[in-house]
Amino acid sequence: MYKKYHIWTIGCQMNVADSRQLASRLESLGLTEVAKAGEADVIVLNTCVVRQQPEDKARNRLNSLKPLKLSRGDNLVIALMGCMVGKKEAETLPDEFPFVDFFLEPSKPDLLVDFLRAKGGDALLPVAEDLEDYRLPDGEENAVCAFVPITLGCSHVCSYCVIPYRRGPDRSRAPEVILKEVRALAAQGVKEITLLGQIVDRYGMELEEWNLAKLLRAVCQVDGLARVRFMTSHPAYMDEELITAVAEEPKLCPYFELPFQAGNNRVLQEMRRGYTREEYIRIVKSIREKVPDAGINTDIIVGYPTESEEEFMDTYRLLEELRLDVAHIAKYSPRPRTLSSQQEDDIPGEEKERRRVMLDQLVESILSEKNGRYPGRTVEVLVESFQEKTGRWRGRIPQGNLVFVEADGAMPLAGELVQVAITWAGPYSMIGTLQEKGDETV
Ligand code: SAH
Repeated sequence: MYKKYHIWTIGCQMNVADSRQLASRLESLGLTEVAKAGEADVIVLNTCVVRQQPEDKARNRLNSLKPLKLSRGDNLVIALMGCMVGKKEAETLPDEFPFVDFFLEPSKPDLLVDFLRAKGGDALLPVAEDLEDYRLPDGEENAVCAFVPITLGCSHVCSYCVIPYRRGPDRSRAPEVILKEVRALAAQGVKEITLLGQIVDRYGMELEEWNLAKLLRAVCQVDGLARVRFMTSHPAYMDEELITAVAEEPKLCPYFELPFQAGNNRVLQEMRRGYTREEYIRIVKSIREKVPDAGINTDIIVGYPTESEEEFMDTYRLLEELRLDVAHIAKYSPRPRTLSSQQEDDIPGEEKERRRVMLDQLVESILSEKNGRYPGRTVEVLVESFQEKTGRWRGRIPQGNLVFVEADGAMPLAGELVQVAITWAGPYSMIGTLQEKGDETV
């Protein structure tokens, strides 16, 4: 009955992971993926509402599907998932989008599977219940990197953030379930695993005997993996045990995603982030003492309600002083039900844009300077894919920087750890030539 599916995804890595889980489940029902929504019997939109812009995109995309549904009726299932759908929204969204057949909350792909089985009856195959049978979906069977969610939801409730309202309170997945999934992925050729959580370093809070450091060390033992990463860390939960694990475990990449959001203590307090500028600086120092070459990425919000020019400059100066690596800069966007949405969004759009551009330029100059150290050096790259356009292989160094590799002769390099001599470096990527294949024993 339902033979073809199409999943459209925007937003964070968690959504990418949720879409992959769902794709795998749908394929176990016998469905195959199609690239065009118009050719599918099941269309799923996996949405993001962290700012107004992705929410607008999702709504536009959804509305564009309406004529298709009207013409195909019961032969087409449209499902909406991701952060547009929280518990509360699941009650009101059907009025707004009556042509959508099914609304599912984030990270619950099985609900859609149950719905389709109920509708499709015997035409659908049974679902593989055991995660050991977890299969990468067809389009991703050669994936080198995969995300694995370990903490779902979030309980921190930052003043501006909608995620807790959509993904619910945080809970840790059982370590044995996570390890099973990681083993299944490694057995299918995945070389790099990134453990995911909104606040990944809260992992295990409610589990006796488990925390993120311990879980990471266990994941590093899984046969076949070359690299392990984790994101996103919250400064208030980052501890010495975790930093030490990164310093000690060879497969654990020297790489931290550690958003500071604002560099001014009043704004940080308004945001309810739970740390001060000084504490953040101490954590970065501690990381750099133990893991001297660590890549540290961050997120920053500009134009939070009442943020003054001077307060914004504290953010600017913090980034300048710490010389972090990639910084994702977002303009403040009021979100439904959040604490800050009760306040006036009083920084004008042009001013937010000016602050964003200033920070972007600072990031670019820091990255130009930092990457400038690489030409002449040889680095280890995990190759992810081939770029037809340039004829180069694309991969990353342990710190996360993107490298394009020139390798004469088209031997397949995807999934290989290779040594690369860097010949050129720009702020956002580098180019180098293949030296030799690295340690094959991983
Ligand atoms: N859980 C992570 C990331 C959450 S969402 C954390 O605690 O940092 C990813 C990023 O989106 C955030 O780090 C923040 O910089 C940005 N963001 C979240 N809510 C926002 C809002 N209302 N307006 C603008 N940016 C926002």
